[in-house]
Amino acid sequence: MHTNEVKIGNVVMGGGHPIVVQTMCNTHTSDVEASVAQCIRLSEAGAEMIRLTVPTPGDVKALAEIHGRLRGKGIETPLVADVHFSSEIAIAAAEIVEKVRINPGNFHKDFDKARAQFARLVKVCREHGTAIRIGLNHGSLGERITSLYGNTPLAMKEAAMEWLSLCAENDFSNAVVSLKASNTIVMVEAYRLLAAAMEEKGMAFPLHLGVTEAGNGDSGRIKSAVGISSLLSEGIGDTVRVSLTEDPENEIPAARYLADRYGGKLHSSLASISIEGGKATAIYNAPDRERLMLDMACDFGKMLLDRKIDEVELRGSYRGSDGSEVRLDNSAEAAYFEDELLQACRRRFYRPEYVACPGCGRTMYNLEETFNEVKRRTAHLKGMVIAVMGCIVNGPGEMADADWGYVGEGNHKVTIYRKKTPVARHIPENEAIDLLLELIGQEGSGN
Ligand code: SF4
Repeated sequence: MHTNEVKIGNVVMGGGHPIVVQTMCNTHTSDVEASVAQCIRLSEAGAEMIRLTVPTPGDVKALAEIHGRLRGKGIETPLVADVHFSSEIAIAAAEIVEKVRINPGNFHKDFDKARAQFARLVKVCREHGTAIRIGLNHGSLGERITSLYGNTPLAMKEAAMEWLSLCAENDFSNAVVSLKASNTIVMVEAYRLLAAAMEEKGMAFPLHLGVTEAGNGDSGRIKSAVGISSLLSEGIGDTVRVSLTEDPENEIPAARYLADRYGGKLHSSLASISIEGGKATAIYNAPDRERLMLDMACDFGKMLLDRKIDEVELRGSYRGSDGSEVRLDNSAEAAYFEDELLQACRRRFYRPEYVACPGCGRTMYNLEETFNEVKRRTAHLKGMVIAVMGCIVNGPGEMADADWGYVGEGNHKVTIYRKKTPVARHIPENEAIDLLLELIGQEGSGN
């Protein structure tokens, strides 16, 4: 898909330029020391663009300091301000950093005011050479759009087109767009619809790809690779973020892999494949375990999502961390990878489905540790969708179709959600997982 060039500081995105690898800090932006240190680590790890959350006017000041300090140290990696719920903060941040991400679902409640504020934002961006990301998420589309189109890929596409039309009306082309979802089917469908709609309207805004709230570990990597690779293999996508509920440095190798593979710099370790009766049998000769997972997700994710095949059997081997050959044929680990792949493609659910945000400066508790504990204690709840979210501001909206949600309030308190409804508020952190399990149990036993 042809896209226009967008300039973000020293990075040019779109227009046939290499796929850009990006990530996001999980520090409190107001903690300038920690944020600068993390930006340096991320930049050294290969992040080509770094986002920071900017929830308050005080964070705008911190952002300016972080930006200044990094530039003072000769680190030119473009910074992106992530802004929700305040168009004024977006406008202020646009004077400081190279790009501002806004979420149309919460830019301004009143659409007429949103249009006026967006025109102001564009003016500032034009003056400062700042780019904009129109960053829509499946879980936070806004009432106006969902009342018209439901909470669907179509709604995501329509919302994005509305905002890209605002860019066109304001004669502003330095914009990128994203339509993230945690559900890989929804995510891929939304981007495909948008790519087709842009083409029809003669628009060519670069696309930022990501599976949001993908979780962590193997499942987070496989899920992200399935969604992102399905689109990159069709020529859709100019920049990627692999969102993991882990240290953001861990996101870079998986994102780099995707950028390199679809930039033609590396090839799958798949040695041979045969397909019969909807089942693909794949023989790998992978250099390591992570590579096997990512290769498998990219080789077969799209085929599973598009129902071209129904299952995959893994054979062959990968090299273990000690250099020894780890055989896959009929092994428990091969069966685990096959299950994870089918679950990431939503073709079969062998365990609960987890939705967990990566955390950011709004997170007020140890998200990674809590998420791992929730996973450990709910592993038996096959097919249930359980969300663990870092903040009460965006978390509930972003949980999309979760059955249960564990949402950090701050001050060591948690709210538990059943679907979209809070059912227990202000629960001390050390009691919240027990209560979550109790509530799930009560429902299950019909009490
Ligand atoms: S839901 Fe998570 S990633 Fe999103 S703003 Fe809240 S803490 Fe940050």
